[in-house]
Amino acid sequence: MEASNVGTCLCGEVKFEVMGDFENFFLCHCKYCQKDTGSAHAANLFSSRAKLIWRAGEKMVKTFNLPGTKHIKSF
Ligand SMILES: [Zn+2]
Repeated sequence: MEASNVGTCLCGEVKFEVMGDFENFFLCHCKYCQKDTGSAHAANLFSSRAKLIWRAGEKMVKTFNLPGTKHIKSF
């Protein structure tokens, strides 16, 4: 049976569900993760097969892809 994980933003306007399993979890200490979190590291989950399903507020989500890198931040 596939895992299902639900989440929201802090105010609750954005709701999402991830269907499928995560394959890796990393606390990344690279300079990009430090800068985009304002902390020592970012907590990153990775999956090549899981699907992200927006349940509410998808249009309020903005995504920034740092030019010249694979670093992407959605907020
Ligand atoms: Zn990083």
